[in-house]
Amino acid sequence: MVKKLLQFVDLKKETPIKRDTKKRRSDFNEIYDQFINEKATEQSSRCSQCGVPFCQIHCPLSNNIPDWLKLTAEGRLQEAYEVSQSTNNMPEVCGRICPQDRLCEGNCVIEQSGHGTVTIGSIEKYITDTAWEKGWVKPIKVKTELKQSVGIIGAGPAGMACAEELRKSGYQVTIYDRYDRPGGLLIYGIPNFKLEKFVVERRTKLLKESGIKFIQNFEVGKDQTLDELRKKHDAMLIATGVYKAREIEIPGTNLKNIFPAMQFLTASNKKGLGDKVELFDNGTLNAEGKNVVVIGGGDTAMDCVRTAIRQKAKSVKCLYRRDRDNMPGSSREVGNAIEEGVEFKWLSSPKKFLGQTNVEGVEVAQMELGEPDASGRKKPIIKPGSDYKLPADLVIKSLGFDPEDLPKLFNTNELVVSEWGTIKIDLKSMQTNLKGVFAAGDIVRGASLVVWAIRDGRDAAIQIEKFLKEKIKIKKDYEAA
Ligand SMILES: Cc1cc2nc3c(=O)[nH]c(=O)nc-3n(C[C@H](O)[C@H](O)[C@H](O)COP(=O)(O)OP(=O)(O)OC[C@H]3O[C@@H](n4cnc5c(N)ncnc54)[C@H](O)[C@@H]3O)c2cc1C
Ligand code: SF4
Repeated sequence: MVKKLLQFVDLKKETPIKRDTKKRRSDFNEIYDQFINEKATEQSSRCSQCGVPFCQIHCPLSNNIPDWLKLTAEGRLQEAYEVSQSTNNMPEVCGRICPQDRLCEGNCVIEQSGHGTVTIGSIEKYITDTAWEKGWVKPIKVKTELKQSVGIIGAGPAGMACAEELRKSGYQVTIYDRYDRPGGLLIYGIPNFKLEKFVVERRTKLLKESGIKFIQNFEVGKDQTLDELRKKHDAMLIATGVYKAREIEIPGTNLKNIFPAMQFLTASNKKGLGDKVELFDNGTLNAEGKNVVVIGGGDTAMDCVRTAIRQKAKSVKCLYRRDRDNMPGSSREVGNAIEEGVEFKWLSSPKKFLGQTNVEGVEVAQMELGEPDASGRKKPIIKPGSDYKLPADLVIKSLGFDPEDLPKLFNTNELVVSEWGTIKIDLKSMQTNLKGVFAAGDIVRGASLVVWAIRDGRDAAIQIEKFLKEKIKIKKDYEAA
């Protein structure tokens, strides 16, 4: 471990961080900074350097966690940052929004021994936020510009991580995205209270300063086909995420004020970014003063209930058809939601939406858990005669996402997808069945996590580079022959 680290820093050298003494205690940032620094040092010192880094093993990016904890404990933050950023393109994002209880922190040896985990995520966030503040985060300076170009469809974490890695090697990279802002779900899905938008925007700015070209409001399939883009670039990456909301087939779905989760969250995020959002401004997508019912038990449902609370809803209820132990979402997020005043209706499934024109309520069936189904989770079964009604002025459906029909959307019927609609790739080369077209992130895995999207983006960059080098070699061999 230490050997691995030495390529980045010298562990024996003590370099205490210099504080900016010109700042006064009245400066909020300084107070915050000091407080967090003490906490970060205290927490990092709790790492036992156990030798079997379960935290690292369970981090999808294999972050060198014990090493940057040691450096933080010694006050050597710049070196901690160098180690942290060497395996992660967005450590400050992951530190904020990874479900650490299922990944690094959940597997911390100290947590396992019942003494409470080292708060790895918060320390990761602290290290990188400090790095931004101190000016240690710099745009890429390309040593040798290469002629070959890569087109990336999708400016989410998978696309951005891949772009950054390829740019480091000197390739010309263009990202095409149908949204008006880069960031994918980091900008329009995940709410501001979990991930502040400036955090995403400063990353994007850095990538632009590094020479990566972003083309926004550009929908592949509408503005240009995949085939047309393939002719422009030497390789392509598809990193379009999954956006088709799963539907619920019950009476009353046509009533007004029943919305898919992404519509509700996008409106809220756009508002937070200062945009004019007609449906929010006229009250339709604003939960203020309303009885809100959210259907679903995943992390997106938790984001919806917590957003509704922040919009000052009259009441917020979450319907989930299994019990708390069987919820797919992070238990930490459920705990947060309960603390904030969300009422969970476990073992409850909507049967009918009630109302004339607008939704006025939801008829709910109570469930009990039967034998495990194909997914291994206990199957919810309706308890006969147990129905009850809930008042609702706004219903948000959060039942998960499927991929859109990409071959049709891209006008590329020959692109091979799985039975679920995710893009099929060769797991080693990350290439689709189309030569020079790679894919990464949610569009390959199905709805997943930011940290996995970053990992995929980085892996795809390695494979794309291999492909591009081979392409040049073949060309040179051909010319020499
Ligand atoms: C509400 C919500 C909350 C979440 N919270 C968390 C969390 O707390 N922690 C966590 O780890 N994960 C969370 N996730 C999951 C995480 O956001 C995704 O796993 C991750 O963003 C996937 O990255 P991606 O790059 O594959 O796709 P995305 O982030 O979805 O980006 C895809 C991009 O492709 C663009 N695109 C799509 N089609 C086209 C086209 N035809 N032409 C051009 N551009 C196109 C889109 O506009 C988008 O910008 C959450 C997801 C949601 C929906
Ligand atoms: S990237 Fe996520 S899983 Fe890995 S160390 Fe950071 S918070 Fe933990």
